[in-house]
Amino acid sequence: MLVVMSHQATQEDVDRVCETIRAMGYTPAPMPGAQRTAVGLVGNDGRVDDSLVIELSGVARVIHVSNPYKQVSREWRPENTIVTIAPGVAFGGEEIPVIAGPCSVETEQQILESARAVKAAGAVALRGGAFKPRSSPYSFQGLGRKGLALLALAKRETGLAVVTEAMDDEGAHLVAEIADCIQIGARNMQNYSLLKTVGKIGKPVLLKRGMAATIQDLLLSAEYILAEGNPHVILCERGLRSFDTTSRNLFDLTAIPVVHQLSHLPIVADPSHGTGRRAVVTPMSRAAVAAGADGIIVEVHPQPDRALSDGAQSLNPEQFGDMMRQLRRVAEAVDRQIAGVVAGVA
Ligand code: PEP
Ligand code: MN
Repeated sequence: MLVVMSHQATQEDVDRVCETIRAMGYTPAPMPGAQRTAVGLVGNDGRVDDSLVIELSGVARVIHVSNPYKQVSREWRPENTIVTIAPGVAFGGEEIPVIAGPCSVETEQQILESARAVKAAGAVALRGGAFKPRSSPYSFQGLGRKGLALLALAKRETGLAVVTEAMDDEGAHLVAEIADCIQIGARNMQNYSLLKTVGKIGKPVLLKRGMAATIQDLLLSAEYILAEGNPHVILCERGLRSFDTTSRNLFDLTAIPVVHQLSHLPIVADPSHGTGRRAVVTPMSRAAVAAGADGIIVEVHPQPDRALSDGAQSLNPEQFGDMMRQLRRVAEAVDRQIAGVVAGVA
């Protein structure tokens, strides 16, 4: 339930609504807006009797949120949420930040070379996994803590924001020490204990859609994070399992405008995992920007053929530079801009 206050409502009116909600056994969540304040009611599972609040002074109307997810819904918050992960790196506004880097952190040289190359082409954040969720236990599992230290080094050298995955509660605390944004991978989208943990940590979270998850599942997972008091959630479309083996996954671009209708949270697109094939990453990143994506996360490796994970879907730095040039033109066509400045590009 959402209590929308009138323009004339005073702070006392808002306080009285909050007290009443508390007396009903729920938690009030006041949200001052540009036009007027709304007070959300959290802690309920199902419809709440509104008779005690509807007649209070300053109450304009009461909206019953009909979806199973509440705080992530557009009904709850009509304006877009802007998630800022580092100074100048904001998702959900007019600018479209690009996060780029290798699938995994492999060596100091590899991550530094990647960071310098993606920065030169205009990326504003570096990706790279230190804890890797691999399908096989015999595949490269990531460098763990050492990988995090290398990401911190790359961040100090280049100033890029860092996005990296956490796979469990302990990892989430370690990742939070160095990362600007904690990635929750597709395989962990429904790891509710991990979602609660990153909700409590409070740092920005990049929540990837599970490979067989509905959009409602994705939004409910985001709700777990917001319910812990962390509103800094960026959703990510990364492709779904399908019957067609031509590409690794079926990249569901429909999710982008659909999420924008249902939720105020930003959504970024991952055309690397979304397709699994280097040759189609750039066209699908163009399509994602055209569809309204609030950011792009893409795998770039200095030598994709030598990558320890996901080489087949990784762009080399030159291909990434081309992709960025194309994205700038597509962004302009939909009245947005790719974030960041690039040396030598007006
Ligand atoms: C990744 O970003 O490298 C990754 C493992 O992604 P996903 O969870 O989408 O498979
Ligand atoms: Mn990968």
